[in-house]
Amino acid sequence: IERIRKRIQGKTPFFSLEFFPPRTQSGAMNLISRFERLSEGHPLFCDITWHPAGDPSNTEKPTSSTCMAGVMLNYCGIETMLHMTCVGMSTDTIKENLHKAKDLGIRSILALRGDLPEGDDHWKETEGGINYATDLVKLIKEEFGDHFVICVAGYPAGHPDCRSYHEDLQHLKEKVDAGADFIITQLFFKPETFLNYVKDCRKLGINVPILPGILPIQAYQSLRHIVKLSKLEVPLEIITAISPIKDNDEAIRKFGIDHSVDMCRALLKSGIVPGLHFYTLNREVAVKEVLKQLGLWNEKAPRTLPWKKSANHARCD
Ligand code: FAD
Repeated sequence: IERIRKRIQGKTPFFSLEFFPPRTQSGAMNLISRFERLSEGHPLFCDITWHPAGDPSNTEKPTSSTCMAGVMLNYCGIETMLHMTCVGMSTDTIKENLHKAKDLGIRSILALRGDLPEGDDHWKETEGGINYATDLVKLIKEEFGDHFVICVAGYPAGHPDCRSYHEDLQHLKEKVDAGADFIITQLFFKPETFLNYVKDCRKLGINVPILPGILPIQAYQSLRHIVKLSKLEVPLEIITAISPIKDNDEAIRKFGIDHSVDMCRALLKSGIVPGLHFYTLNREVAVKEVLKQLGLWNEKAPRTLPWKKSANHARCD
């Protein structure tokens, strides 16, 4: 845990990788092999998003976020951060989830509010309840002190539910003042979007490390889906570049790799980016290629799997 705290604040650039829990058990098996292959490049940490996993029409037992995080940590030996949302959950359930994570050995949490339940068009506060990520950060601090490294989400284009970009920054400051150790941002398409955001954060006294969230564009349809969910606007030059090749997956992936490499180089050159956080979409080829081109893929350093070091396997319910 101290290694993470130090590296995040240090001068040597690192990378981290985000995955989501797969819908099926065979998907989980494939993802575990992918964790192992991607861990060869030495990410500082990997994270698992928090989603009600599993396809309801599927009769297989779905994998949960906590379970995947436990496997990533205890079987693959990867420093693991678990995302956790609080929307629509009782404080007791949230505490239970946090205790489960702690019991599995997880030491980092990305504390989130979560999106509105489907069909709701605006946020309804629960009096005395957990309404915002700030409340979750406070709860973690109250219950667990400094046990967890806490990360929170930042939005370089402003959060879509917020009245203004500046109001959203104020709320980000509240999350940090409540005890967040660092910030990972929503994806963006131009380096200046992130660099201006960091400047605005610093002006407001938000001084914790801020990691840019990088999405290598991998397919036209998935990009459309992601920007719709995140309510982001894709710059015209990207639309113009990919529209003619939208049916050619190979060409889109190549565009995505080149675009990410250019953007990451500009971010690293700025000297204010401690590391890069990649939204992998559970795929490996594009992210690995970007990291190789940036010189951040470090497969020479040896890695020992935890189950080779010790016979103490953590249980995963
Ligand atoms: P908050 O920080 O609570 O902010 C939500 C909104 O409320 C913002 O508009 C903010 O300005 C406003 N606000 C905050 N405090 C107050 C206040 N006191 N009064 C009034 N307004 C306030 N979603 C998932 O479901 N699972 C995931 O794993 C997941 N991972 C993510 C990872 C990253 C890096 C990012 C950027 C997003 C992720 N999301 C995930 C999406 C996230 O849950 C949504 O964007 C959600 O709508 C907001 O979550 P938050 O933690 O940023 O909320």
